[in-house]
This record gives sequence, C-alpha cells and structure tokens, in this order.
Amino acid sequence: MDEIYFDYAATTPVDARVLQAMLPYFTQHFGNPSSIHALGQSAEAAVEGARRDVAEVLHARSEEIIFTGCGTESDNLALRGLALSQRAQRGANHLLVSPVEHPAVLQTARQLRDQYGFELEYLPVDAYGQVEAAAVAACIRNDTALVSVIYANNEIGTINPVAAIGAVCREKGVPFHSDAVQAAAHLAIDVQADGVDALALGAHKFYGPKGVGVLFLRRDVALLPALTGGKQEEGRRAGTHNVPYIVGLAAALKLAAEEREQRSRKLIPLRDRLIAGVLSTVPRSRLTGHPEQRLPNHASFVLEGVDGNALLAMLDMAGYACSSGSACKVGAPQPSEVLLATGLSPAWALGSLRITLGKDSTGDQIGRFLGDLPELVARARQLS
Ligand SMILES: *Cc1c(COP(=O)(O)O)cnc(C)c1O
Repeated sequence: MDEIYFDYAATTPVDARVLQAMLPYFTQHFGNPSSIHALGQSAEAAVEGARRDVAEVLHARSEEIIFTGCGTESDNLALRGLALSQRAQRGANHLLVSPVEHPAVLQTARQLRDQYGFELEYLPVDAYGQVEAAAVAACIRNDTALVSVIYANNEIGTINPVAAIGAVCREKGVPFHSDAVQAAAHLAIDVQADGVDALALGAHKFYGPKGVGVLFLRRDVALLPALTGGKQEEGRRAGTHNVPYIVGLAAALKLAAEEREQRSRKLIPLRDRLIAGVLSTVPRSRLTGHPEQRLPNHASFVLEGVDGNALLAMLDMAGYACSSGSACKVGAPQPSEVLLATGLSPAWALGSLRITLGKDSTGDQIGRFLGDLPELVARARQLS
C-alpha cells in the first residue's frame, strides 16, 4: 500500500523539472566555478544564473544572495554572524528572538547566550504564536544586536506580520532576520517590502534538493563568516559551490513563484476542508496557530488526552505520514516549546498533530483521512 504523504512541512520530493535542470551539472558541467578554464567558467555561469534567479524572486540584488548548505546553516550564519559583528561594531549585546522560532534559530541564540555572553530576550507572542510589531518596538534597546522572527511557523503555520516588524527594526536601526524556510514554498517574499536584513531559505521545503539553502543578506550589513577559506560568496561563505544543488534550488524557487497562485488556489480549500473536518469529528480537538493568517497547506491541531507520538505511529500503520510538529522532535517526550509559548497546557500540547499538504495532495486523500481519524484518536485515547 502506498502511504499518503501529509508531511510536506518536513520535506518535499524534488520536482521532476528541477531534477532535470540539475543532472547535467553532476557529470557534463562538473567544473569548479572558481577555476579559470572553460569547464570552470560554465559552472560559474550556472551559479551566477541561479543567483540572479533567486535574487529576482526575492526582489533582492544578486550580490545579496549567499548560497549555503541548508536552511539551518543560513539561520546559524545570520544569527551568529550578525550578533558577533554587531557586538564588534557597536558593543550591542542584546538579542531579541521570538520563542516560536525553529531550533536552528533558537538553539543558535541560546549558544550565543551561554557561550558568547549575549543577553537573550524572548519576544512576547499571542495565542496564535504571532509576534506584534508594537511588541518588537517596545523591546528594542540601544544595545539590541538583532531581531529574529520566523516568517511562517513550521509547527503551527502562523504567518507573522514581517513587513510591520521590518519597518520597526529599520526605524530603530537594528538588523532584522527572518527564517522564511517554510514561507518560501507558499508566500510571495519581497525583501524590500518586508524590510528584512537577513532571510533564510532551504530548497527541500519547496520541491528542491536537500542540503542547499540561501541566506539573503542586505548590502552593507556586516556579517562575520562562519566558514572561512576561499573567496566564494565574496568571502561570506567559503567552500566549493555545490553547483547542481544551487541550480536545483533556483529552478525550484522559480517554479514556486510561477505556480504560487495556482498551488494556493488548490491547497486552501483542501486545508480548510481538513480543518473543518477534524474539528467537527474529533472531540476535544483544537486548531493551533492562526485561523486565517496561516500557510495555505498547513493544518495543525492539539487533541486533549492523546499521546501525539502514539497517534502518529497508528496513523503510519493506517497509511498516513503525518507529524506532531517539527520533524526534529520525533521521539522527544516533552511537549513542543512552540505550543507551550502559545499558552497551551502540557496536557493539550502533548497531543499535537500536524498535517501539511503539497502540490500533489488530493481531496480523495483528505476524505479517506477524515474517515479514519476519529476512530484512531479514540483508540489513542484509550492507550493513554
Ligand atoms: C526545515 C526548517 C529549517 C531547517 O532547514 P534545513 O534546510 O532542513 O536545515 C529551518 N527553519 C524552518 C522554519 C524550517 O521549517
């Protein structure tokens, strides 16, 4: 039996068109973009073409695009690189980070606190996990080194008012980073309108390959590099370019931009049917995240009195690949920090269920799922 895949927030398959674009760069155009000879130059042309394509989608300049090894690396480079250079430049020692960030941001911020002596302050969030611009304005200090707020949340789907937060940060002169790894698949990102100074993307969340990401870094914003070595990426990220993956990332991002409206038109009614169906057929269930300002493919719930991981295992046996939140947390018995930050009690937060749809999801799959779920939840409740 083919398992129905409802975990597109964890990762997506590589689009066949993206794979075709990548293949020549493994074997035929295998040169090192830093080499002077023709083979090197054709690889360099591919990397620079990919950089222009990514810049165009994000409304950035080519020189503001840094290719990295994944979304996590982009977040690490932004947080550590901005914090350390802001401290060196102007003694700024205060980090303002939302409590609903992906671990790639949260754990980096905590390392900066514990190992580098920064003061870490969490921004307040509401019951939907949303950060208000006014709250950012109230928390920024003269010694704030950076603000980091996730663009759209991976666990609960909530979209943040990034442009309003960006305007506040710009007015106060504080660098603003946003983790857009989930958002890039679904939302029109415009780094000018959004007022971000740094923005992270990872290709495997939008039908590109795993193991390649982007950091947008605004011109004139100083960044201490983490990988030092060759002159790649203008010294901001040394290491030989992963040419086929960079080509794949750019092809996938272009397709996401071109097909965005069409994909959303299909996904939103499916998502809404799923949300309404779960809430009406599963007793003691609640939607997590914002009811409207949420990713078009994202449905997330908490189910009281359910062990979320036990339910996931039962769903898997029944042929559905779902998640309890962040894929990185599987096996961890503690409730999700993101859900606790929205004010849920641990008893509710332990019963989390995330269903994320993709461009190949169908109404038929959702109908089957809604038919099977109530019985599985009832059985999971008997177990705990
Ligand atoms: C997946 C994800 C990441 C990590 O990206 P990788 O490319 O898997 O390292 C970071 N932030 C968010 C919001 C994500 O969903």
